Amino acid sequence: MSAEKKTVFAVGAHPDDVEFNMAGTLVLLAQAGYEPHMMNVSRSNLDSNELPEEEVVRIRRREAENSAAVIQAVYHPPIADDLMIFYENSLLRRMTAIVREIQPTIVLLPSLTDYMEDHTNTARLVITACFSRAMKHYTSIPPRDPTAQDVYLYHAQPHTNRDGMRNLIVPELFVDISSVMETKLQMLGCHESQRQWLDETQGMDNYLESMRQSSAEVARLNPACSWRYAEGFRQHRHVGFSAEDGNPLADILGDKVHCTRADDSAPRGDA
Ligand SMILES: [Zn+2]
Repeated sequence: MSAEKKTVFAVGAHPDDVEFNMAGTLVLLAQAGYEPHMMNVSRSNLDSNELPEEEVVRIRRREAENSAAVIQAVYHPPIADDLMIFYENSLLRRMTAIVREIQPTIVLLPSLTDYMEDHTNTARLVITACFSRAMKHYTSIPPRDPTAQDVYLYHAQPHTNRDGMRNLIVPELFVDISSVMETKLQMLGCHESQRQWLDETQGMDNYLESMRQSSAEVARLNPACSWRYAEGFRQHRHVGFSAEDGNPLADILGDKVHCTRADDSAPRGDA
């Protein structure tokens, strides 16, 4: 059906989540000929204690669109409010419609462990939306025809590389983003309203510098390569998503990818 279509879908909970942990890899895939798609599931309506909610939503939407425009990515508007991203029927059907429209073969999505629930629930929604893409009797909102392409899911690092219990998360797949760090900074820099907000709420006095340090830490977690900046991923198991196991990120990006994962192929017939 659409197996030849080269499309990558990067999805985060909030505007700037993709920019923090996935944008470098997204840029590299775009450079390799993949059509990039970006989405933040939440409108980020709570991102200010001063501005009216509708004003915050408008600002955050514009910033996200500006960031996507940096790499000519297709931007998909949010479908939920902050702290309202639940793993539930309506959002799942809406996310499935988006996945069926995009027909991605590679999906970059949040970690299943992170410091806040919007992130982890986004990951869960996207996983099942991809899982249900081919199920004819599963009706999306709005209705969209099922799609049959193989899709490979890569979970990005949690925010600042730690889960909610302070554990350092060491990825199994590293991507050298040094060559596209300036573009990643440019994209994150589009989220100007976050400068003040992250300072007030998280003591992050310079969110651009914070992202740079986080990307440098990921590079240091991979002593096998002396890269300056990296993004890290853990790949979702392929069952239900692709006919065969595979690692298209490594195939496409070549020596920009270092994979430490041991062979984890399970015996046939496991349930
Ligand atoms: Zn977030």
